[in-house]
Amino acid sequence: MTRQYLVAGNWKMNGSLKANAELLSGIAAQAATVADVELMVCPPSVYLDSVGRALSAGVALGAQNLSEQAKPGAFTGEVHGTMLVEFGCRYVLVGHSERRALYGETDQRVAEKYQTAQTLGLIPVLCIGETLEERESGATELVLSRQLDAVLDRCGIASFQSAVVAYEPVWAIGTGKTASREQAQAAHAFLRGLLAGRDAKIAGSTRLLYGGSCRPDNAHELFSCADIDGGLIGGASLKASDFLAIAAAAQSLSKA
Ligand code: PEP
Repeated sequence: MTRQYLVAGNWKMNGSLKANAELLSGIAAQAATVADVELMVCPPSVYLDSVGRALSAGVALGAQNLSEQAKPGAFTGEVHGTMLVEFGCRYVLVGHSERRALYGETDQRVAEKYQTAQTLGLIPVLCIGETLEERESGATELVLSRQLDAVLDRCGIASFQSAVVAYEPVWAIGTGKTASREQAQAAHAFLRGLLAGRDAKIAGSTRLLYGGSCRPDNAHELFSCADIDGGLIGGASLKASDFLAIAAAAQSLSKA
């Protein structure tokens, strides 16, 4: 089954009005050269409005987080999914490892966020991945199944018809240490297998992104793996030329 590559930029807590404008104009200048690849950027929430207005055609807007609450209300500091929709978001990251590790997001909470996002018409990008300690103790598959099952059990396999999964080994995020082609493909094949255990057709069409120190010099190798359908890019998404070079790797592998 052919899946369109998705290359998504997670800006994390970075940016300013000036830096964002420069980054977006750099992306706009080259976006047409990667026309077969879906591009998406996730700025900090306060910039969603200005970034959404400045985005070039064909670049989707995503948020980095949302509240799990079904309805807006007395939840100081939180952002509701209806607000993200109102500002033009199509995607939202859920369960990024920094949210899990630094803000105590449990598998359960992540599943609630995923469900709320979908209920409100957003496409969740479910981030999952093991720590170095978990990998070294041979627990990678156990951790990936636990994180994925929490969502499958709550929302069902049908929900993956409009969801994206990002495999992000925690030890590779922001460390400059990338998973090898073999490690990444093995994890992706394992995840696709878990989805296929519930529904093979849906598993075949779900986009699985790799994230973790993906750069222009390793993107082609990673994206050429059978079960890798694009990337979630942190640091390298803050430089237009790097982000576009990564997208160009996906473009060169795109099936017309
Ligand atoms: C991320 O933040 O999701 C990420 C993959 O970061 P980096 O590319 O910097 O490792």
